[in-house]
Amino acid sequence: MSGKKVPYKMYLSEEELPRCWYNLKVYEPARHPPFLNPETKLPCTAEELERVFCRECVAQELNERDEWIEIPQELRRFYLTFRPSPLVRAYFLEELLDTPAEIYYKFEGNNTSGSHKLNSAAAQAYYAKKQGLTSVTTETGAGQWGTALSMAAAFFGLHLDVFMVKISSEQKPYRKEVMRTYGANVIPSPSDTTRAGRKLLEQFPGTGGSLGCAISEAVERAAETPNCRYVLGSVLDHVLLHQSIIGLESKIALDKYGIVPDLVIGCMGGGSNFGGLLAPFLGEVLKGRAKTRFLGVEPSSCPSLTRGKYAYDFCDSAQMTPLAKMYTLGCGFMPSHNHAGGLRYHGMSPILSALYHGGCLDAVAVGQRKVFDAAVKFARCEGILPAPESAHAISAAIDEAIRCREEGRKEVILFGLTGTGYFDLSAYRQYNDGTLEDIMPEEEELARGFATIPSLT
Ligand SMILES: *Cc1c(COP(=O)(O)O)cnc(C)c1O
Repeated sequence: MSGKKVPYKMYLSEEELPRCWYNLKVYEPARHPPFLNPETKLPCTAEELERVFCRECVAQELNERDEWIEIPQELRRFYLTFRPSPLVRAYFLEELLDTPAEIYYKFEGNNTSGSHKLNSAAAQAYYAKKQGLTSVTTETGAGQWGTALSMAAAFFGLHLDVFMVKISSEQKPYRKEVMRTYGANVIPSPSDTTRAGRKLLEQFPGTGGSLGCAISEAVERAAETPNCRYVLGSVLDHVLLHQSIIGLESKIALDKYGIVPDLVIGCMGGGSNFGGLLAPFLGEVLKGRAKTRFLGVEPSSCPSLTRGKYAYDFCDSAQMTPLAKMYTLGCGFMPSHNHAGGLRYHGMSPILSALYHGGCLDAVAVGQRKVFDAAVKFARCEGILPAPESAHAISAAIDEAIRCREEGRKEVILFGLTGTGYFDLSAYRQYNDGTLEDIMPEEEELARGFATIPSLT
């Protein structure tokens, strides 16, 4: 360590905004078996993927050659409206915990969408526009992703249809209003505007919808609309690539003070923020230059890494996507309601799955009461009201800092604070009322989920 006093907030200048993303897949441990076409069981070709996703994103998805991939100039200009984001030294949390550990967090909540998702939404909207497309579609559950893509589509001049799970659009009317303000067409799903939606409405009149159905509607709309593609907010390799800007900025800031983290912690839904935060630090480890440890945190209600199986599975519950080799609870697994909407995904990024399988990454699952204990502790001393998803990382960082105190170790801990919790106040209300419950799937429930993993023989 250089001995220079570390400030509360480590800001980078606009000049220091990274010019490239970092592609971990040049390293063997981050590579994974190819996507398979569910009908032929053969690896998906770029051509097949380009029917659904933008061309440049497909090229990035399949790139195992270039360690650095240039961020286009026009996109960097948009990034400057909300980046570089601050890296904060959590002095007050350290004092509260009376720990010898140094705690840092990278804060991604400083944009209207309130989370890191805008990093990839912007990139995908940019590439769609550059390809000459006129519109994109997506689904959204809790609404963070739909909001981020609305902002990006407005900036780059694309029409956007967001299929929003009906029950969420009723529970979170203000999220919907933010999206409409940015010009998105928000359609509660299931809707009567697609075959998939009409079929579901016929089978289950009055249903509140599901993410699986919203995906089917968005994919169908993209396939049937000229000059339109579907956009996904997590899981895929190109989304993790775009999110590497989180890790790169963190590393640039820490390098100035000669600080190397001993431990990097992130919450995991589909894996995009954590895959992006850890990328350059894991690159150092794989080059033999550092010994950093990596810890992913998932909700105990949806424990894909800690209790899932490593298998080929569909990325969506409607079984329309290619098969991906990943840790999964089964594409038919229905996580019980919990308040970290962004972490309720049955699978996990194939890159993070491969890293976990290869022993490069540890994982823990945490119950939501403990998560909200951590969220409230953090809000009261550091000031920021965290998203429930982000509070999973806070909870693990607190546990690790306490371990450091007990073992008398002066470790450096870095965690990702992915977003703010202003749209999650009903969850905070339940916590404050003492009515928030911990949810953990029983073995039978997991078995029912595993039974929906397709057999490959
Ligand atoms: C969506 C979301 C997550 C989880 O998604 P990942 O792809 O795993 O990063 C975490 N935090 C917030 C605030 C989110 O909106």
